[in-house]
Amino acid sequence: PEVITVGDLANRMAERGADVVKSLMRMGVMATITQTIDADTAELVVQELGHRPVRVAESDVEIGVMGNEDVAEDLVSRPPVVTVMGHVDHGKTSLLDALRKTDVAGREAGGITQHIGAYQVQLKSGSKITFIDTPGHAAFTEMRARGANVTDVVVLVVAADDGVMPQTIEAIRHAKAAGVPIIVAINKCDLPSAKPDRVRQELLQHELVVEGMGGDVLDVEVSAKAGINLDKLEEAILLQAEILELKANPRRTADGVVVEAKLDKGRGPVATVLVKRGTVKVGDIVVAGSEWGRVRALVNDRGINVPDAPPAMPVEVLGLGGVPLAGEEMVVVDSESRAREITEYRARKKREAESAKSGRGSLEQMFKQI
Ligand code: GDP
Ligand code: MG
Repeated sequence: PEVITVGDLANRMAERGADVVKSLMRMGVMATITQTIDADTAELVVQELGHRPVRVAESDVEIGVMGNEDVAEDLVSRPPVVTVMGHVDHGKTSLLDALRKTDVAGREAGGITQHIGAYQVQLKSGSKITFIDTPGHAAFTEMRARGANVTDVVVLVVAADDGVMPQTIEAIRHAKAAGVPIIVAINKCDLPSAKPDRVRQELLQHELVVEGMGGDVLDVEVSAKAGINLDKLEEAILLQAEILELKANPRRTADGVVVEAKLDKGRGPVATVLVKRGTVKVGDIVVAGSEWGRVRALVNDRGINVPDAPPAMPVEVLGLGGVPLAGEEMVVVDSESRAREITEYRARKKREAESAKSGRGSLEQMFKQI
């Protein structure tokens, strides 16, 4: 169905109508300012013009509010978001635990170090780094598939006594496909059997060339167990972040990605969300996947209630009506009716997709019988 006029679409993007018409022409669609186009075409042209389309309802392609790119003046530096990847037993969990202990903000007060899927470390310098925990591995793949990747940097953990293994290679492939820079943490360097040079040599075969070998990939010899060079690894992450010039507008309508979600006995549905843009506040109406709700509380990675969460901060969001899926986007909307409209649309789409799938199944069934 035709859903929006070219003129309205141009307005929402703050683009000139003529530019939208031209862009449509390049796509082989001949339409004037007053003519209407369908949502798929609208989505394409929005992308074409460098905006991010957010398809919220069949009858609507929301661009003006949520998808509009921020202007440079509103952007401020934000912490890098880091995912740790690597072969099993090479020390991902140990490294995340060790890095978490470098946080100067301190966790002794209250002492509740709950395990949420993402946490933020504040360094002595005041800089912050956000880490996505190992379950985030799955979310990482999910996010990549959705084109809403929140990971800025991948820390590739390779055990110095074991070298490059199948999952190491898989992680390299994932990071490269997502266009995310890799920092190599050569772990277990406390072991006498550690051969960090061999690791660097092996990485070379997978087109990962570290600085010492003439490439531009940062590498750090660490030990999660002995706490060696963790500060060096953090420095490397911040250096990489600086190159990436990571920025976000904290004052816009917020959105983020669900890193993990669960049904908590006492607290109801709890979604760990990594805020991407804007600031999520208690009282906001949010939509996450096909669930919505009013934010009842925001809980940080130390188990402390906070009034709001700025870009790159992981928080637990309480108040959703149900449990969303990891990898789904969470957006703040302006009214409950809007939230309902969006979730109902998504629920219907999901049902349609499922019935299409089962339809295909029965067709296959039919052919089998023939
Ligand atoms: P993951 O599967 O990648 O999360 O690996 P883990 O963090 O669970 O570590 C696997 C094993 O390696 C555990 O027995 C750790 O104690 C050990 N390990 C992790 N880091 C180091 C390290 O720096 N040095 C040594 N010697 N052992 C480590
Ligand atoms: Mg682990």
